Amino acid sequence: MSYDNNNIFAKILRGEMSCLKVYEDEHTLAFMDIMPQADGHTLVIPKEAAETLLELSDDAAAATIKTVKKVAKAVKQAMGAEGVSLVQFNGAAAGQTVPHIHFHIVPGSLAEARSH
Ligand code: 5GP
Repeated sequence: MSYDNNNIFAKILRGEMSCLKVYEDEHTLAFMDIMPQADGHTLVIPKEAAETLLELSDDAAAATIKTVKKVAKAVKQAMGAEGVSLVQFNGAAAGQTVPHIHFHIVPGSLAEARSH
């Protein structure tokens, strides 16, 4: 499947849509989720154009995981959470709604957040 340049996260990366940015480097961007499952719900995306983790280059995947670790530590500390959930869907059939690969960072238990 070809990458859709008009997806929301591609527009955020091009600066055509705003976001609440929490971290950015050469290869990745982290920002707050617009419909958080819990306080502190943050998204991490690579700047490389890829719909799912399966199409992402190994270099971009490594950079993304590095940022996920960094941001997850900061979110966990900032929210005073005992643990942090990392979630990542690949493909609409798996529950992915925005077709640019992203990791969800949710303080605490995602299952618990979803039950509220
Ligand atoms: P998915 O279901 O694809 O794994 O998650 C997509 C996530 O993107 C959802 O949690 C949703 O709330 C978030 N989202 C959708 N549109 C926007 C937006 O315009 N800005 C931000 N910051 N998050 C968005």
